[in-house]
Amino acid sequence: MTVNVDAQELAKFSDLAHRWWDPESEFRPLHQINPLRLDWIDGLAPLRGKAVLDVGCGGGILAESMALRARHVTGIDLAAKPLGVARLHALEAGVENLDYREIAAEAIAAERPGAFDVVTCMEMLEHVPDPSSVVRACSELVAPGGWVFFSTLNRNPKSFLFAIVGAEYVLRLLPRGTHEYERFIRPSELARWCRDAGLEIAATRGMEYNPFTRRYGLSGNTSVNYLVACRKAA
Ligand code: SAH
Repeated sequence: MTVNVDAQELAKFSDLAHRWWDPESEFRPLHQINPLRLDWIDGLAPLRGKAVLDVGCGGGILAESMALRARHVTGIDLAAKPLGVARLHALEAGVENLDYREIAAEAIAAERPGAFDVVTCMEMLEHVPDPSSVVRACSELVAPGGWVFFSTLNRNPKSFLFAIVGAEYVLRLLPRGTHEYERFIRPSELARWCRDAGLEIAATRGMEYNPFTRRYGLSGNTSVNYLVACRKAA
């Protein structure tokens, strides 16, 4: 199987991995949005008692927070350094119902189809050469009636202005070059990949940043960052 990965994209995250859990680092946006997305996921698919897979988990901000509510969480990524940071953080925090593996979504889907009640894949699809293949793998990984959550960046002039010019150059929330505009994904494109993979979209939310309060919030505005919740037919 050829692996659906871009080595340059992984390097961006590996180079900064040692700062992953510093809430004032390049990863500040992930720390800030985490409580919002965690509660949104848990509200739709109550995590208590569930087996969860986090695809593209990085240093484990979301995975570890879900493990505090779920029965078990597996985090996967193809970047070794962030996974090392994630393992160390879980060890130090004493979170034991959590394991991390360096494996592609497509490969674990072949190994453990239908093994998870909830699959999350956040801020990852826009870094992958073939995101539709990851969507398909997530659908294969979730059990019938289970939930799959995605978040990514929309592709339009406003998202270019906000997510690249604003976030990387003006406000410097993210390092320059974090995102490639061409890889951004319109909600209609993600919706088609979900449908083709047998996932039905149950809810969509926008995520907005207020530069004055320096806070994020969920809203109905999906023009820049957005989250999608899907269900696999029972
Ligand atoms: N999902 C986490 C991390 C987002 S950063 C969160 O939201 O907190 C994007 C992550 O995607 C990085 O850890 C990067 O290594 C990972 N990634 C990029 N391409 C990937 C691929 N093809 N397969 C698996 N992980 C990938």
